[in-house]
Amino acid sequence: MAINCPEGTRDLLPDEMAFWTSFKACATDIFSRYGYLPLETPIFEQTELFVRGIGEATDVVSKEMFSAVSGENLKRLMAGESIKSKSKLSLRPEGTAGVVRAVVQHDLVPQGSAPAKLMYAGPMFRAERPQKGRQRQFNQVGIECLGADDPSVDAEGIIMLMRFYEAIGIPVAHTRLLINSMGCESCRPAYRELVRAYMDEHKDELCDECSRRAEINPLRAFDCKNPACAAAMEHAPKITDHLCDDCKAHYATVKSYLDAAGLTYVEDYKLVRGLDYYTRTVFEVQVTEGMGSQNAIGGGGRYDKLAQEVGGRPTPGFGFALGYERCVLALEAAGFSFPAAQRCDVFVACVDDSARSLAFSLVQDCRDGGLIAEMDHQNRSLKSQFKLADKLGAAHVVVLGPDEIAQGEVVLRNMETHDERRVALDDVVGALR
Ligand code: AMP
Repeated sequence: MAINCPEGTRDLLPDEMAFWTSFKACATDIFSRYGYLPLETPIFEQTELFVRGIGEATDVVSKEMFSAVSGENLKRLMAGESIKSKSKLSLRPEGTAGVVRAVVQHDLVPQGSAPAKLMYAGPMFRAERPQKGRQRQFNQVGIECLGADDPSVDAEGIIMLMRFYEAIGIPVAHTRLLINSMGCESCRPAYRELVRAYMDEHKDELCDECSRRAEINPLRAFDCKNPACAAAMEHAPKITDHLCDDCKAHYATVKSYLDAAGLTYVEDYKLVRGLDYYTRTVFEVQVTEGMGSQNAIGGGGRYDKLAQEVGGRPTPGFGFALGYERCVLALEAAGFSFPAAQRCDVFVACVDDSARSLAFSLVQDCRDGGLIAEMDHQNRSLKSQFKLADKLGAAHVVVLGPDEIAQGEVVLRNMETHDERRVALDDVVGALR
């Protein structure tokens, strides 16, 4: 029986690969204008990093991580032995923890320095139940800015992300930008208590999962898809009524920058996001047309305590990640399809076998001269070589046969205009360029 790719994963075939490459190039182009530089971190890290960084009680860490062990350690585990903590590895479920780890490890924000502005692109892994727009391996492009707590960082990050969506062709009219503030360590604990107490009073209206969440992670109940929970949480205390003065001022300034940039946003006090590390600003971008339930195409926020959680000195941070596959779905909903990746500048066709070795050399000369060149490798007739050239999208076909060889010339056919002219064998590359 044929083996398919694992559930929740997909192959990026050549047409899509060409698009993914240009998608990343577009992000690099736009983000570099804001000072962001690319970096790459490993796709697996010590499990401990995600436990400490993202939070043990989050769905991502408690249920969705793929663990990785070396063959040796697998044998030890199977034999009931324990393995060292640093040998416990997990595939990265998101990019921020790894980037912050790298910033701390390489001291990329020495005291008094400018903020480190970094971007990444690559696969993330979450053992979620696969559905349209939700995969177990998916690609994210993300940015992280470490070393500045000013609201201008948050605002320029959000503006930059919206500019990217526009540049890649996602209609702005089909998007909705949600923002919220999650408070900080001074105001959030008291607010969390209020929500917990509210949930206690409304226990009977909440699902089992939310009742359990009330103890460890009450704010996540705002995210519950169960209609009864959503109705019950509608009247829960709102974080925006309980922010400390500093958080209030930070949030107000972020909004004033977004207003000045002419961005439309919706304040959503229920936006809590799934990762524990957020402080103050959080935001999410959703697509309103044709996406189904998995409609978030990106999101992020501020995480001023994360560097300390992973062992660094206090370093405020802000970042976001956008989901490549969801962006493709949003584009497809707006009528987009991948352009063909294949391009062929010239196809060298042989009238008969006597021309093959010369054709082989000519194709090589064309490639050395910078052209995308192809010839027949399947003993096709001349007619079917022309069909193949057409299929490959060849702009020109060079015809080589005994007559042409005898005269030291080839026939050069323009496939669009159907014009034909004779060109000296030595001049083919020059004539095509
Ligand atoms: P998060 O790290 O959860 O904030 O996710 C950031 C973005 O990544 C989301 O807005 C989605 O676009 C995308 N994303 C998250 N999880 C998945 C998934 N399982 N499959 C596909 N895309 C995802």
